[in-house]
Amino acid sequence: MLPVPLDGLFTYSVPPELAGKAERGRRVLVPFGRNKTYVGLIMKLHDDKPSFAVKDIQLILDDGPIVTEAQLKLWKWIASYYMAVPGDVMQAALPGGLKTANTYKPKTETCIALAPELKNGRNLQVALSMLARAVEQRKTMECFLKMTLGGTDIDSSVQAKPVEITRDELMNTAHCTAATVRNLINRKMLVSYEREVGRLNNGGKPHIENIKPLNEAQQEAYNKIEQSFTKKDVVFLHGVTSSGKTEIYIHLISKALDEGRQVLYLLPEIALTVQIRQRLQKVFGNRLGIYHSKYSDAERVEIWKKQLSSNPYDVILGARSAVLLPFNRLGLVIIDEEHETSFKQQDPAPRYHARSTAIMLAHAAGAKVLLGSATPCAETWHNAQTGKYGYVRLDKRYGNMQLPETTVVDIKDLTRRKMMNGPFSPLLLSEMRKALENKEQVILFQNRRGFAPMIECRECGWVPKCESCDVSLTYHKNLSQLTCHYCGRTYSVPEVCPCCGSHDLRGRGYGTEKVEDKVMQLFPEARVARMDLDTTRTRNAYERLISDFSAHRTDILIGTQMISKGLDFDRVSVVGILNADSMLNYPDFRAYEHAFTMMAQVSGRAGRKGKRGTVILQTKSPELPVITQVVNNDVDGFYADLLEERQLFRYPPFYHIISVYLKHKDNAIVNSAAEAMGDLLRSWFSDRVLGPDKPAVAKVKTMNIRKMVIKLENGLDRTKVRQYLYMGKNTIFQDKRYKNVQIYFDVDPL
Ligand code: ADP
Ligand code: ZN
Ligand code: ZN
Repeated sequence: MLPVPLDGLFTYSVPPELAGKAERGRRVLVPFGRNKTYVGLIMKLHDDKPSFAVKDIQLILDDGPIVTEAQLKLWKWIASYYMAVPGDVMQAALPGGLKTANTYKPKTETCIALAPELKNGRNLQVALSMLARAVEQRKTMECFLKMTLGGTDIDSSVQAKPVEITRDELMNTAHCTAATVRNLINRKMLVSYEREVGRLNNGGKPHIENIKPLNEAQQEAYNKIEQSFTKKDVVFLHGVTSSGKTEIYIHLISKALDEGRQVLYLLPEIALTVQIRQRLQKVFGNRLGIYHSKYSDAERVEIWKKQLSSNPYDVILGARSAVLLPFNRLGLVIIDEEHETSFKQQDPAPRYHARSTAIMLAHAAGAKVLLGSATPCAETWHNAQTGKYGYVRLDKRYGNMQLPETTVVDIKDLTRRKMMNGPFSPLLLSEMRKALENKEQVILFQNRRGFAPMIECRECGWVPKCESCDVSLTYHKNLSQLTCHYCGRTYSVPEVCPCCGSHDLRGRGYGTEKVEDKVMQLFPEARVARMDLDTTRTRNAYERLISDFSAHRTDILIGTQMISKGLDFDRVSVVGILNADSMLNYPDFRAYEHAFTMMAQVSGRAGRKGKRGTVILQTKSPELPVITQVVNNDVDGFYADLLEERQLFRYPPFYHIISVYLKHKDNAIVNSAAEAMGDLLRSWFSDRVLGPDKPAVAKVKTMNIRKMVIKLENGLDRTKVRQYLYMGKNTIFQDKRYKNVQIYFDVDPL
């Protein structure tokens, strides 16, 4: 198997001198194409000589398999279910350092040991006597012997295992120079060697006594989960924000460890904060390993290798890709914030969902899966309601904190009456002012980054667009540039309109940057911070923003959806949702689900021990039922409406969806290829096919896009469906005009 986006496996011959080392699961170095070399994985050894000429493998890189059979089985499932090629899965699964032959270098330090000949006590005494006049060396040697063997009286101690020391330790203790140590090595009295040192968590001993006892409601939920696991493989814990789900997880993890099993704890990338790591580390110490994309490649390689070793971490806390790590005695998978869309990989392939993948992984390992959320995705809700999953509900917040009180503000009306102050209604401003006077904190949620989502010529209506994508550009004032949020391309800000020459170019709408500007104008004394993609490019920036807010070094935090994730602040009395409509008006069948989830999660940040929080929800459409459902935290009502609609319009969870994408630089070509493929698919799938259509953003990175949606009722043979889809794709490729069209599938798209 090679990490290339081509279908199938590749055949190479094993030269006789490597035959003894060849084994399924080991990595090899192989030539590929004209002059490339790849790191591949041996999948199968066989004697069926193909009809074409095969090349030799150049090198075998490992002394044993670096993937387990269970992983290979899971890879196969991912490739098949998500319609990806094996190389894509390998690419996603293996950390970079395992896909190159030489970039991974373990970190080492130099250690010093006694030369083997001197392990005989008499030889040692002779050697020491030769140092009579080399004072520095003799002193160093004596110090060395004391450190490693306890003294120079070697006869009694040679049998004992010497203590391993580093060169630095020796130099520090003996107060000698590196030259002295080198001289002793040259005299063949000492030898040096490199020892691998881990970059991994040395989190200290576990402290199970740090587990917090559960309160009554939590204990009841815990018992119900345990009971449910005797009947179901997957259980959904439906717990409101701050009900203490994490504490319940900690108890479940501890129990799994007692039974000698491993635990995988998945969180969305963004929620993997210091807060959660510290909570787990306090209890599980060095039995906890952490795995996510902001970790260096070397760290990820080391975790991978440790998981293969006889001494793996018992608990892995990680983001999506941690589901692809090796485990050998997995007993429990926890997926917290299971509704989060970042659990699905969007681009590139494999477009896998970590939730479904984890359920497959757990099933094969005989492990249980616990999904946790206050606002589940529609599929999970449905599965829990119909009994496919176990269902446990926890409605009480810890410490009897109340859910916040939400007030809806009609900003359409206020705008008409000219009563809005920028993006703020008078009510939101007065609540913010009150909070600041009481030394409390405020969170403002605006799901658009940048200064203004677009700029516009007030004379002729011209709007600058990206040259590579079919989207308007976002104005970033701090950088004084226009940026395409789809391809990242940047442009300078025009001074005059290229259409009419007018100088009156103005920003329209509010991005987080402009909200921040406005807040600083209105509350000059407040300490304001902003959390969005632009201010959190590094791991440290993100964690600093959070720790500053936690420690009340910031009064007002403005942010995109990032601020809603797994954070636990206790001085936030006001949350402002500046504009609910931008989420609701999104042209996608999941828009309401995502909007509800986001608003409920952001609202959940409000409130503190002993005082009810306030949420101000600003919208132009206060009459929408979803707004009322957010206000009343009416989860049941919301999902009842949602599912009714989904069933009516044939969407998940009642139907499976596969999206078909076609891309090409030339709009006419992609258009006719899509029409042709549409006709073909319709001849097999009839009215299950919608489209082809232009998606909302119909051109990205110079590629024109067409999209079809296939809706498949439950019970259809998925293998057959996939076969037809591949057949459709291959038929299109047979037409010479379309051979450069990119065609791919997105299974269960979000
Ligand atoms: P959730 O994961 O449901 O949002 P958390 O587990 O983060 O909730 O709990 C919210 C807050 O309440 C945290 O600060 C947590 O430490 C505290 N808490 C929850 N349960 C307990 C408990 N049993 N004992 C002590 N503190 C608790
Ligand atoms: Zn103009
Ligand atoms: Zn672009």
